[in-house]
Amino acid sequence: MLRRILRTGIVTEPPPGTGAEAREVARLNREILRILGRALTIRQVDAGSCNGCELEIHALNNPYTNLEGYGIKFVASPRHADMLLVTGPVTKNMEHALKVAYDCTPDPKLVVAVGDCGCTGGVFGESYASCGAVEKVIPVDVRVPGCPPTPVALLAGILAAVRR
Ligand code: SF4
Repeated sequence: MLRRILRTGIVTEPPPGTGAEAREVARLNREILRILGRALTIRQVDAGSCNGCELEIHALNNPYTNLEGYGIKFVASPRHADMLLVTGPVTKNMEHALKVAYDCTPDPKLVVAVGDCGCTGGVFGESYASCGAVEKVIPVDVRVPGCPPTPVALLAGILAAVRR
């Protein structure tokens, strides 16, 4: 077994180096630290996503994007949040829950709509089961389009919301 491990060597991808994306992440992280200068707490609300957007949101916490390293944390309750990061489309079943989450978030609050579904309803649109875009249910400050948006785009969206 040991011989096999040694023969196989390292098969994972090398970490992102000094490419354009790495430079953009570093720049956004510096901006967040400069603008924020304190912790920002985010409650993520899945209002009907296919979970593609959630996979990219999870990537915000990896050691590369390092959101927590800059004092930005995901919290379990909207009562502890400064910002709602909402993926959609908003299903009819989640409409009430999203309104309650919005009402429970203390003022001043920020709302970022994530993904094409969150921004416009995306491929699901409006139907008997879907309210469509997040802004149809609660006020939205910033939209981050993409299907799904990249972690860098999400980071830029969070920063844009904080700048408002
Ligand atoms: S924007 Fe794309 S990845 Fe995100 S919830 Fe909609 S279909 Fe899924």
